[in-house]
Amino acid sequence: MNTDTIIKTAADLISKAKSILFITGAGISADSGLPTYRGLGGLYDGKLTDEGYSIEEALSSDVMSIRPDITWKYLWQIGSHCIKAEPNSAHLIISKIQEIKPDTWVLTQNIDSLHKKAGNKNLIEIHGDAFELSCTKCRSAFDALVLFPESGKMPQLPPKCAKCGGMIRPNVVLFGEMLPEKAIKLYYRVLESRPELIISIGTSGMFPYITGPIQEARKAGQRIIEINPCFSSITDIVDIYIPMPAAKAMKAVWEELTLNTKS
Ligand SMILES: [Zn+2]
Repeated sequence: MNTDTIIKTAADLISKAKSILFITGAGISADSGLPTYRGLGGLYDGKLTDEGYSIEEALSSDVMSIRPDITWKYLWQIGSHCIKAEPNSAHLIISKIQEIKPDTWVLTQNIDSLHKKAGNKNLIEIHGDAFELSCTKCRSAFDALVLFPESGKMPQLPPKCAKCGGMIRPNVVLFGEMLPEKAIKLYYRVLESRPELIISIGTSGMFPYITGPIQEARKAGQRIIEINPCFSSITDIVDIYIPMPAAKAMKAVWEELTLNTKS
């Protein structure tokens, strides 16, 4: 299939689907200027931190419990990258699709809050949100702008609660931690409802909680689209593979969709 046919077929699948599940990974944030890190750690691809840890160790629950200053240093670096980023066309077009297809869900592996900033609804942030901060003792919410000021200055880390002095932490899944139960339950409920169309955008597809359900969906006859400039572990089993960056692909699909509704 040439690119035009691929885009037309994808738009056709979207316009016919009554229910859609988007599954997004780091690739959708690449067009917002964020590096396509693998999970939390890819900013540091393979390099050891100043403290001699791998980034996965530095961002683990084990190190957080003994040296929270180290874990926080890297959480803060990632957060200060993400807080300046704005959602791109791919995030915004998901919102537009949700206006015409209310039964559209979004499962994201990203912690950068860009789906929220774009106004996406029915959002499941399976790895949490780097800017949802609270006290580990008294659970009080903590303002992200205090931690990531416009000056870009790194504050005293780990941040402490003004009310009780407890340590603040972001609502993200560190290495060695379980995925949040509430998010997982909701995700499985959406999967059980058998969305007619699954659209994977910029996800490496390496996580079993993503590849498993996509293989199941394939067997059940649900349609699958993948948008990804690189092949992933699910590329072989999707109906439509769009080998493009997220924003470019979603813009092309949206143009085709609106063309169809006008004619
Ligand atoms: Zn507190």
